[in-house]
Amino acid sequence: MKDVSFGYERKKIALVAHDFKKKDLLEWAKYNRVTLSCHDIYATGTTGTMIEQELGIPVTKLKSGPLGGDQQIGAKIAEGEIDFLIFFWDPMSQMPHDPDVKALLRIAMVWNIPVACNRVSADYVISSPLMWEKSTRLKPDYEKYETRDVEV
Ligand code: PGA
Repeated sequence: MKDVSFGYERKKIALVAHDFKKKDLLEWAKYNRVTLSCHDIYATGTTGTMIEQELGIPVTKLKSGPLGGDQQIGAKIAEGEIDFLIFFWDPMSQMPHDPDVKALLRIAMVWNIPVACNRVSADYVISSPLMWEKSTRLKPDYEKYETRDVEV
């Protein structure tokens, strides 16, 4: 693992909520509006539109989740462009984009990104002193994996 210093810069926060969880996320986001407005917010399409309209803060909106938005957020995580993910996924509904949901959760683990999947864990993340203080994230070192010998 390599140390990556974040200093005091704005964090890049990705927000995603499935339809039955959007109300939860919106309530949480409204409660934390001031904190969220101090950072850069990214979101899947419908979630982002809702947050932007209700909170009046700028959101970088990607495509709607089932149309590729989850994969776009996953790609940003892989590129080191997201600091943490708030993902209120719905454990009680079948999703057409279930593979994308799993892929997003997986890539967040691959790159050691903090993930909060419900309101209480999102509360812990956003109230952490690391939101404001100089903090470090351990970035996994995949050099050995990338340079491994593959028998062909
Ligand atoms: P949405 O996508 O914000 O466009 O509804 C969320 C999702 O289902 O991943």
